[in-house]
Amino acid sequence: MSSVNISIIGAGSAVFSLRLVSDLCKTEGLYGSKVTLMDINQDRLDAVYILASRFAEEMNANLEFSKTTVLEEAIKGRDFVVNSALIGGHDFLDRVRAIGEKHGYFRGIDSQEFNMVSDYYTLTNWNQLSFFLKIAKLMERHAPDAWLLQAANPVFEGTTLIRRYSSIKMVGFCHGHYDVREVAETLGIPIEEVDWQVAGVNHGIWLNRFKRNGEDLYALIQKYAANYDPRRFKPINPFNVQMSPATIDMYRFYGLVPIGDTVRNSGWKHHYNQETLVKWYGAPWGSPDSEPGWQWYKEQLGQVTGATVALAKAIEQFPEASLEKLIVEGSRGLSGDFARQAAQLYNKNSLSGEQHIPFIDAIINDSSARFVLNTLNEGAIPGIEDNVAVEVPALVDREGIHTEAIDPPLPERIVKWYLKPRVLRMEWALEAFIERDSDLIVEILLKDPRTKSYEQAKAVVREIFETEGLSE
Ligand code: NAD
Repeated sequence: MSSVNISIIGAGSAVFSLRLVSDLCKTEGLYGSKVTLMDINQDRLDAVYILASRFAEEMNANLEFSKTTVLEEAIKGRDFVVNSALIGGHDFLDRVRAIGEKHGYFRGIDSQEFNMVSDYYTLTNWNQLSFFLKIAKLMERHAPDAWLLQAANPVFEGTTLIRRYSSIKMVGFCHGHYDVREVAETLGIPIEEVDWQVAGVNHGIWLNRFKRNGEDLYALIQKYAANYDPRRFKPINPFNVQMSPATIDMYRFYGLVPIGDTVRNSGWKHHYNQETLVKWYGAPWGSPDSEPGWQWYKEQLGQVTGATVALAKAIEQFPEASLEKLIVEGSRGLSGDFARQAAQLYNKNSLSGEQHIPFIDAIINDSSARFVLNTLNEGAIPGIEDNVAVEVPALVDREGIHTEAIDPPLPERIVKWYLKPRVLRMEWALEAFIERDSDLIVEILLKDPRTKSYEQAKAVVREIFETEGLSE
């Protein structure tokens, strides 16, 4: 048993905190650890603190929680810092998207070729990128040996930025690769029997290996795609797009199956307007990145945040109440995924699927395990520069990250037509941010099919950057 000091920045995140706390409670090798929750939203912070403390108590987990609104306090002397903060929150994303739409940019200017995910801004998120660097610089000073575990988006730009501009140990996480399971399930193959690998960049990963006992299962995928009838695709929620017509279309063009959020990150062919979105990602939503799809997601997030605060109040008022009972009963009204996540919090035999706590366990207790991580390429994917963050499988142990050899390599079609253009867009966005040069954003928009004139591109960038005070 090894105790460590962990902090979670943006601990009020509806998506992450309780799942991480739940994983920690199920990881006995980390008992004795101290966990600091940090957020600038006092109400959310107080609520997560109350719930985390009670949760650990009910799980008989030996963990100690503290809370703070001061970033430095959450960093000093820590061994691991998890960042899940969203600077400006969803309100910022909505305002910027609305200005973009007013100027003729459907779904906002941050929706770009190969990056359509609605909370993954790469052009206007300078406050978010600044915050990433602020954490890294504070860690250099106050916790130079600690690991930064990056959950906040954009993970691709963020991991590349931090690794280039800071000396700290850092890794980016995403859970998108789990959708390999859905591919296997659809084909009727138990995932435990599959020898699989994915590679690419965050939200741009491809199933390069898919075998069972040496047999290439791509033959089954080929058959599935040949018989695929898009009219039969009926998503159960907006995120249920792994086997959508867009996936099959991307497979046909690129030669491998896109995994997880990669399916959302295709080009304008699948995203021109709501009708196009519905055609490729299924009715009624047309992916999570459509207006109704994103509205659905925000409502779910709002319910989770609201429930978190209400639960904390209930526990304060009725200290004898069982949190487990309240969570299970309270989550009944949520959608399948959120209800499942809530029920799973107390299941001792199953972790959340977030990789942060198992990663800490692997490093601290040398319990070697396989992860899919965002780390610098350093030769893993030929054709991509060494100092670009890639998302690849890796073994992690006390010695750190050991990236797997990517075998078979990604086809040229993917490297040349998907990864390199996506990498270039990351480089453009980071240069604009580093130079604080919004004219470069205008330049990016001139290559955008939604731009009809130079004046339009200039006007939208000016309005966003002035309204949000981004150039200051
Ligand atoms: P959210 O707004 O619900 O939560 C973010 C939290 O950050 C809030 O509690 C907010 O108060 C806090 N915050 C804002 N500014 C802060 C600051 N200066 N210091 C400390 N805390 C601050 O957002 P969310 O939907 O939970 O998403 C959080 C982030 O996680 C986003 O960037 C999102 O894109 C990302 N995300 C990542 C994955 C992944 O797998 N990597 C999956 C889903 C979401």
